[in-house]
Amino acid sequence: MYDYLIVGAGLYGAVFAHEAKKAGKSVLVIDKRPNIAGNVYTEKVEGINVHKYGAHIFHTNNKKVWNYITQFAEFNRFTNSPVANYHGELYSLPFNMYTFNKMWGVVTPEEAADKIEEQRKAAGITEPKNLEEQAISLVGTDIYEKLIKGYTEKQWGRPCTELPSFIIKRLPVRLTFDNNYFNALYQGIPVGGYTKMVANLLDGIEVRLNEDYLEKKAEYDAMAEKVIYTGAIDAYFDYKLGTLEYRSVRFENETLDKPNFQGNAAVNYTDVETPWTRIIEHKWFEFGKDEEGNDLPKTVISREYSSEWKPGDEPYYPVNDEKNGQLYAQYKELAEKEPKVIFGGRLGEYKYYDMDAVIASALDMCEKQLA
Ligand code: UDP
Repeated sequence: MYDYLIVGAGLYGAVFAHEAKKAGKSVLVIDKRPNIAGNVYTEKVEGINVHKYGAHIFHTNNKKVWNYITQFAEFNRFTNSPVANYHGELYSLPFNMYTFNKMWGVVTPEEAADKIEEQRKAAGITEPKNLEEQAISLVGTDIYEKLIKGYTEKQWGRPCTELPSFIIKRLPVRLTFDNNYFNALYQGIPVGGYTKMVANLLDGIEVRLNEDYLEKKAEYDAMAEKVIYTGAIDAYFDYKLGTLEYRSVRFENETLDKPNFQGNAAVNYTDVETPWTRIIEHKWFEFGKDEEGNDLPKTVISREYSSEWKPGDEPYYPVNDEKNGQLYAQYKELAEKEPKVIFGGRLGEYKYYDMDAVIASALDMCEKQLA
């Protein structure tokens, strides 16, 4: 009998497992995949740490989280600054003076602010009610049309008028020449990859891979006093109230026999015609070098295609709109009635969490559980 069975070896599960073990609890971690680290999993290809389930750039303002996670990995100085490609026109992201200069030829912050204000006024938006209105009121119609609309509709598979405005508020808008995508005090990529970082969290803990909890639920439940479940909450309840919507992503990975494909880790294709949303060139997360500091001769790229999740696919992004919010609230009520199960993480809480928020939430749960 274990004190805790942890379902899912991603960040939430690994942090909880580490803390539980440290508190003297017996812990078993299981995961249905053949590998640990959930969606932050990285795998070495041609000396490059490839982010197999999508690019992850660690960033946080939370000092407690930063001090915590840096015990398990050293972080490099990578700063995310994606480039937007709109029909071959390149723009700097997030929206900053370089973007405004290229879009309108404006030179000063005042001119940029005036241009945005002019477009916002012309659109007649006072209180933004959805992502489209929010975006136009933040950056005006030109940027909305060229850099937001196509990308967002491809990523979410829904019109911007039907998406919640908070999604676009993730992106900074700056009247400075600062193209750091995040407003975070701390940022970087773990040296040696995320898998190594999660392996360090799970050091000395029993982990069983290729184990599908939901297929043998009763058997597993009998093995532990408590269960930390980090899978999809609707799957846990066998979708009995209906399926929550997720966006899934398909990756087309390619190894190219050249040192440099696009000169940047991320290029977003913001027009609606290009079928992929972005291309990640993984080596630039580590400045094109291997761990000894040598230049890598080849490169690995991943084209990302966004799709609606259907059973059997990997869920990536919860669709946090009103309809799904209501359904999630019903599942949450059921979850609270499960006596020995705690639901956590992006899928367990159906929340568009960044990595730092997942860690913070796992540490909070540890405080509640392990005190
Ligand atoms: N977004 C956009 N154009 C871009 C990049 C992002 O319109 O070139 C919008 C889009 O709506 C997206 C949201 O900003 O869903 C959040 O993007 P972020 O990069 O934070 O998404 P993630 O990295 O989590 O996939």
